[in-house]
Amino acid sequence: MEKSTVEKFASELNLPIDLLLKQLESAGIKKTSGTEELLEDDKSALLNYLQIEHGASSTSKNKITLTRKQNTQIRKTDSEGRARTIQVEVRKKRTIVKPDQKKQVQDDLIKKDTSVIDKKTVDDKNQKEIREEEEKRNAALMAAQAEEVKNKKSAKEKESKDGTLHRPASKANVKVDKDSKKTELKDKWVDKNLKKRPIKTRNDNNKGWRSPKNKNKNKDEVEDQDFVAPSEPVVKDVLIPETISVADLAHKMAVKATEVIKTLMGMGMMVTINQVLDQDTAIIIVEEMGHKPEAAKENDLESFLDEESSSVNEIIEPRPPVVTVMGHVDHGKTSLLDYIRTTKVTKGEAGGITQHIGAYHVETSKGMITFLDTPGHEAFSAMRARGAKATDIVILVVAVDDGVMPQTIEAINHSKAAGVPLIVAINKIDKPDSNPEKVRGELLGHEVIPEELGGDSMFIEVSAQTGQGIDNLLDAVLLQAEVLELKAPINTPAKGIIVEGRLDKGRGPVTTLLVQSGTINISDTLLAGNASGKIRGMLDENGKNIKQATPSIPAEIIGLSDVPNTGDEFIVINDEKKAREIALFRQGKFRDVKLAKQQASKLENIMDQMTEAEVKFLPLIIKADVQGSCQALAGSLEKLSTDEVKVKVVHSAVGAINESDINLASASNAVIIAFNVRSSGGARKLGESLDIDVRYYSVIYEAIDEVKAALGGLLSPEQKEVTLGMVEIRDIFKASKVGTIAGCFVLEGVIKKGSNIRLLRDDAVIYEGQLDSLKRFKDDVKEVKSNFECGISIKNFDDLQVNDKLEAYEHVQVARKL
Ligand code: GDP
Repeated sequence: MEKSTVEKFASELNLPIDLLLKQLESAGIKKTSGTEELLEDDKSALLNYLQIEHGASSTSKNKITLTRKQNTQIRKTDSEGRARTIQVEVRKKRTIVKPDQKKQVQDDLIKKDTSVIDKKTVDDKNQKEIREEEEKRNAALMAAQAEEVKNKKSAKEKESKDGTLHRPASKANVKVDKDSKKTELKDKWVDKNLKKRPIKTRNDNNKGWRSPKNKNKNKDEVEDQDFVAPSEPVVKDVLIPETISVADLAHKMAVKATEVIKTLMGMGMMVTINQVLDQDTAIIIVEEMGHKPEAAKENDLESFLDEESSSVNEIIEPRPPVVTVMGHVDHGKTSLLDYIRTTKVTKGEAGGITQHIGAYHVETSKGMITFLDTPGHEAFSAMRARGAKATDIVILVVAVDDGVMPQTIEAINHSKAAGVPLIVAINKIDKPDSNPEKVRGELLGHEVIPEELGGDSMFIEVSAQTGQGIDNLLDAVLLQAEVLELKAPINTPAKGIIVEGRLDKGRGPVTTLLVQSGTINISDTLLAGNASGKIRGMLDENGKNIKQATPSIPAEIIGLSDVPNTGDEFIVINDEKKAREIALFRQGKFRDVKLAKQQASKLENIMDQMTEAEVKFLPLIIKADVQGSCQALAGSLEKLSTDEVKVKVVHSAVGAINESDINLASASNAVIIAFNVRSSGGARKLGESLDIDVRYYSVIYEAIDEVKAALGGLLSPEQKEVTLGMVEIRDIFKASKVGTIAGCFVLEGVIKKGSNIRLLRDDAVIYEGQLDSLKRFKDDVKEVKSNFECGISIKNFDDLQVNDKLEAYEHVQVARKL
């Protein structure tokens, strides 16, 4: 090849020699005159220099979209669907080509460069240069990818640590982009990072918090380790109770709460650290974060407790049997229980005051027996079914003169379903001409087989009146209990069942419960159904204060936030916050379930109408003063269903009608049946505005009759009650001749002379009657309007108190619409 000089090269390039010399100088090649020899090495050094120096212009000419400094924006939607813009600034000045790769690129360039020069076409050379530039770019890309592999792990980690949706990881992107040179590269990074962000892997998360100190200090070390040997994710079995707070869930998975929050955000849920999640959501999160969820059952104590606290050595001791007496009405259940109570309950207790708490225990010479005294009316069959569940032994009372009756059969079925042994008490054996054999025969027909005939039921002949055979009956119960080997731990937190609940005007919710395992202590915190609270007082069945109750011992407690349902299970959770949290959650869940049921019923409705033609539903909401009435009403009313119309109790609860009842009624088109309770002020207004039919009763049969009439289509125009006004008692005066006079203030509406009134105390009806006199400043008046004061006395009623309310109403004739 001909020897090349500066001069020649200048002419080839069509450049002045001076300019070439200058450029050579800047490229670090010392040439003083045009005659000096220019080596291939020098040329390549110059080319390289020029490429570095002017690379931008050459590439831009070739329509590579990068300019010197380019700002791009990436628009992405975050988990909530909000658009977010990430600013990306790309500077081209720098290259990340590694020295060795650079060299390779340069060699390539030189080769091509030479051929360009040989051809002596400057234009061609430029084009070549462009191609070379492209090649170099590819090489650089490869180099960068190599680099990327190396840096990937650390960058990713950094990304996952730093990047949140609110502080986007764009910084990391930009940083990398600055180092890289090409758009494609940048896109790659950006896409990868953005894709990565919403779903975190456990590995990343763990690193995030497990080695916070290393994060800055020995970053390289950590990166190296991670790159070489990524740690296996630790998969935990997570037991999830019905509800769990975000913080607790994070704790159970051993991750930071923020990680849980982030995962939830990724799923479109904005939560706070203290927010309570339901079981289903928690399960999804646990799965999402790579752990194994396990759903705990309701009242599963273990799921509420930390592992360490549940490792108490249980002391298991025998416990008394719990007995329920069942049988047909008038066969002598009450008499039998009364006899046992009066003769066996320790005499002289609390001055003879015994109160009905739905359960009591009896001390016999051979041992203790606890009786569950569930009401015997037909309408309580639902509750009796539950009672059987809490029961170890059922005493089936059959009157010798009456034999097996429908409720006898029902009781047999209940006890069989619950797998509870039966002891048959053939009652009224004192009656002349009694023939117990006949009863035995009848019972055989229902597969209740006496022991004598190889069965497992004991038959005892008793008389609740004379007391004959009662001791035998109790012995039989204890014998059966022995066979059952009833045992329960006594040193664990108590668990058990709610026997009865009611709202006491003075004491609030009063609950009778039966401890089934563990020991309940005063000031324990209970979770019972959807109520919770700390036990403020505990009484036994004799009204005596007690401090604790052991297995099979009933107790009456006060302190719960609400009246739980009969048959609800309770547990002691000595964490008030958690108990309240779960109770509140359950209330919400029950509402949801109810609403869901309602929807379902509507669907069913359509289906039924399609199939059964013209079948209608009468949805009812029942509110009553005590649980017993509530269940009785619900049971009785549902039984009224006919072929054409079905009664559906959408909701039933204890307490005054509140706004949520009205809302529920409005949503389900239900009629509200209020038994001995009234509406709260807000509910009344809402009810009026939504035109909800609220019916008040104080006699169960009236309610049943009305609903029955309505179902039978016998609704004649009725006397409908129209509320006139509401009056509040502000003061009480006692006049010797007139009786008690209440100084009142008319809160709303009007009060008229002679109108019917209802006396309400804490929204519960205390008395119904008529106004005796209505006065304003000693003058009798016909009516008093709202915001005026008046004096009122009530016919035949004196027990008025300050803050009581009087509801004035009158009857008008309206067409029925039930
Ligand atoms: P329950 O409806 O099952 O609770 O039955 P009760 O305990 O109210 O009793 C119904 C009726 O049967 C009452 O009038 C009792 O006096 C009567 N009775 C109950 N036990 C006996 C008994 O052993 N002998 C007789 N002769 N009458 C009884």
